Amino acid sequence: MISRIDLRGAARPEGSPDGGIDRDLLPRAELDVEAALEKVRPICEDVHHRGTAALIDYARRFDGVEIDRVRVPVEAITGALERLDPKVRAALEESIRRARLVHREQRRTDKTVTVVPGGTVTERWVPVDRVGLYVPGGNAVYPSSVVMNVVPAQEAGVGSLAVSSPPQKEHGGLPHPTILAACALLGVDEVYAAGGAQAVAMFAYGTEECRPVQLVTGPGNIWVAAAKRLLKGRIGIDAEAGPTEIAVLADHTADPAHVAADLISQAEHDTLAAAVLVTPSVELAEAVEAELKTQVAATRHQQRITEALAGRQSGIVLVDDLDQGLAVVDAYAAEHLEIQTENAAAVAARVRNAGAIFVGPHAPVSLGDYCAGSNHVLPTGGCACHSSGLSVQSFLRGIHVVDYSRDALAEVTHHVVTLAEAEDLPAHGAALKARFGGKVPQSK
Ligand code: NAD
Repeated sequence: MISRIDLRGAARPEGSPDGGIDRDLLPRAELDVEAALEKVRPICEDVHHRGTAALIDYARRFDGVEIDRVRVPVEAITGALERLDPKVRAALEESIRRARLVHREQRRTDKTVTVVPGGTVTERWVPVDRVGLYVPGGNAVYPSSVVMNVVPAQEAGVGSLAVSSPPQKEHGGLPHPTILAACALLGVDEVYAAGGAQAVAMFAYGTEECRPVQLVTGPGNIWVAAAKRLLKGRIGIDAEAGPTEIAVLADHTADPAHVAADLISQAEHDTLAAAVLVTPSVELAEAVEAELKTQVAATRHQQRITEALAGRQSGIVLVDDLDQGLAVVDAYAAEHLEIQTENAAAVAARVRNAGAIFVGPHAPVSLGDYCAGSNHVLPTGGCACHSSGLSVQSFLRGIHVVDYSRDALAEVTHHVVTLAEAEDLPAHGAALKARFGGKVPQSK
């Protein structure tokens, strides 16, 4: 069911980026976000022009529900928490507690640098005023994504935050009750029942019910990713966090049953989810293939998982050794990377490209999905080579505050005038000279 790609003996030119690995040889989803852009453009324009009426129409068309308002009444949010299974409540509370421990440490403090006596630059960190947090709810519902979006936004000090998640047919057109309960636990009372591209457009343009936001974060399917890409600029976005990916770099010491279980756990998200094993051990590859057969047959979402594992985005990559394996995982830049090798921590320290790294036999990706304390909204599709997962930083802007005295300005004016003239922008230099009677002051 899962294909094999044999890179053993492949030429590895010295000094080339990605260790000479041809990315086209690696498994990857044929996710055509560019093509999806053309499909989501009219949806976003419609929401821009018709607001709530358009959202109600798309809820009927894409989610199969009849709704007459998109904003979720506060009583529905508090009621969901009252009815929440106590075991689920305890688990969510623990997930929130651990996420807070980690994200609180990401807060930044303003820093002032004295460049010269009397001349300072302060970097001031200011949270975004209002953010829209997308919580997926198509194939599966993700109360965990409420935690992963809301906790860093709150720790950053964002003043106004709104959550949107698709309306659910079985729940009277409201988002899933566990999502509402998670919002209540976190003190969020502004929630909308909108999914896909239309939710991102609602946040970007605003509607009769929802004030526009400045930043939209959160994972989602290809329609969500395409709308974020389309509306970027009007709104800020986090990295594109599309269909989930797991890569496992493992050697002969790994337990094939654990590796297979971890690959399956992420394939469970989506038929487009990617599960990749990179190993120098043919014995491990064979044992994992056998485990996959048995374990998939026993899982609830067998069909979705089988499709994800059989897709072009998944595979077992055979390599000569761990050095080549590291080059492969760096070239792949997985959202989630597990290291299940001898000396796993040392191997993990050599990885350069991954959304998050899970070290050794006791750190499966599912732990990070819910309760490690780390964030699970992570870059996919190779974006981990240039982007990070969601964090407090995603919700902050650094503003440089420049404060110079007359003497400090006088001391540097001749350099500014010289550079301004070199750029043929003499008015720049004149702006400084105007402060010194139209002349360049003598530097001491
Ligand atoms: P979703 O909420 O992202 O998408 C559901 C919405 O898609 C629906 O409400 C509908 O409006 C829209 N839609 C469905 N079919 C459409 C069509 N043909 N045209 C236009 N819009 C359409 O939920 P999902 O589908 O379950 O996807 C969630 C995704 O999020 C999965 O791929 C999962 O792997 C991913 N995920 C990623 C991360 C991460 O950090 N990278 C974390 C959690 C989940």
